[in-house]
Amino acid sequence: MPVDKIRILIIDDDAGLRKTLSDILRAKGYETFTAQDGGEGLSLLKGAPFNLVLIDLGLPDIPGLEVLEKVTADYPSAKAVILTGNATLDSAIEATNRGAFSYLLKPYDIDQMLIHIKRALEKQEVEAENARQSASLRKINAELNALYDLSLSASQTLDLRELLSNVLRSITKAEVFSLETKAAIFLADNGKLHLASFVGILETEVEPCLELSKGECLCGLAMETGEILVSKNSNEDPRHTLICPSGAGPHGHIVVPLKTSNKIIGVLSLYIKAGIDVREGQIKLLSSIGSQIAIAISNARLYEETKTSSLYDSLTGIANRRFMQIQLDKSLETAVRYNQELSVIMIDIDHFKNYNDQYGHSDGDRVLVTVAGILSKEVRRADCVFRYGGEEFLIILPETGASSASEVAERVRKAVERGTSVTISLGIASLPPSAIKMKEFVAYADKALYRAKQKGRNRMEIAVQEDFDQS
Ligand code: GH3
Ligand code: MG
Ligand code: MG
Repeated sequence: MPVDKIRILIIDDDAGLRKTLSDILRAKGYETFTAQDGGEGLSLLKGAPFNLVLIDLGLPDIPGLEVLEKVTADYPSAKAVILTGNATLDSAIEATNRGAFSYLLKPYDIDQMLIHIKRALEKQEVEAENARQSASLRKINAELNALYDLSLSASQTLDLRELLSNVLRSITKAEVFSLETKAAIFLADNGKLHLASFVGILETEVEPCLELSKGECLCGLAMETGEILVSKNSNEDPRHTLICPSGAGPHGHIVVPLKTSNKIIGVLSLYIKAGIDVREGQIKLLSSIGSQIAIAISNARLYEETKTSSLYDSLTGIANRRFMQIQLDKSLETAVRYNQELSVIMIDIDHFKNYNDQYGHSDGDRVLVTVAGILSKEVRRADCVFRYGGEEFLIILPETGASSASEVAERVRKAVERGTSVTISLGIASLPPSAIKMKEFVAYADKALYRAKQKGRNRMEIAVQEDFDQS
């Protein structure tokens, strides 16, 4: 610290001593102030901060020890050196126990005094540096905490909706940014931004922002430029074009593009108090947070896609056999628990091998797509159609007994006959009877289907008691 900035306060009732001390210290380049008693000293302390306070123990108004206590309690960065005669030596020693840096015995040895002062100031400088470092460590710690919380909240789920709301919650409460608890995430699709999740914002406020074009308002601009955008007072910012009709109060924005390897997949719009400064360090941190969110979103999307593709048939687009197994287990459990009826219809295209041989495999594929479409269209909303395999389909009909299922089967059979150049055979199994073995439910439908084939095809058969007895 440059000597000319060092402020020393001398509190002593001895006018001569005050002047001598002050002159010597000034000559050494310190800035000095003097007080003739404790009251004056304490009122001077209330002004600009002092580096060092020299306190005489024998003050006329307030005991020196009391002044020292005030200094150490209220101005902890100031160092105190006690001035004392032999008579108060014990109190001076006591004073060092109570936080004084040292004491000087009157009459002073000037060199000794200057050494004390220098050491006190050195100690003060070291403490100030420590305080600066711990403040910066606290800041780094807060930043790391924010990053940690965010990655934790982003890693807790692969469900996109849940992920977005977790991210918004954790970022708005990260102290390091002093954000308002209002934020939104927009996802990019076909060159537009769509509002995907928001927190703390009224429906009326988000109304104008459900869909934004590239370059439109602050979010559209961040999407266009790929840069973080800060708007300190958004109501007066000409770039902030979409202001809600009911008028959001004064506020600012930080808009963070969500980038994965240079592709912008969306933007994060954060709210800040109007007019507050945003530090460079915060921007850098937000930029890495933006990438982290973008990666988490991409992972969640990939997971969704994988999940979807592993449960749906790529040719016909309807649910596949794996999905069927999941659905069938659920339907059986519900039916048994609530004592409900349940039916399945197993469907097989007749002489499909011949069809392929005659018209080719691609034409055969088209027929499969058409049949899947007809089946899906002919069943009720609660019913599910699956591609069981090859040219076989299965329909699950919850809360449906054998007679209603056979009506559906007949309707479906006729629709395929009408709408395609192939026919289908169908086998139905239904709950109850309760004696049915769950694992073989579909097998019973298959047995009925086999009978339909045997009886000439393009027809349906219902699993009968013998089918159950045989197994
Ligand atoms: P059936 O009336 O007894 O059921 O006779 P089928 O010819 O339909 O029965 P089979 O089991 O002998 O032959 C099934 C045919 O379905 C053979 C196979 O090439 C065809 N197939 C299975 N999956 C597909 C597919 O994805 N696309 C096409 N085009 N054909 C398929
Ligand atoms: Mg077959
Ligand atoms: Mg067949």
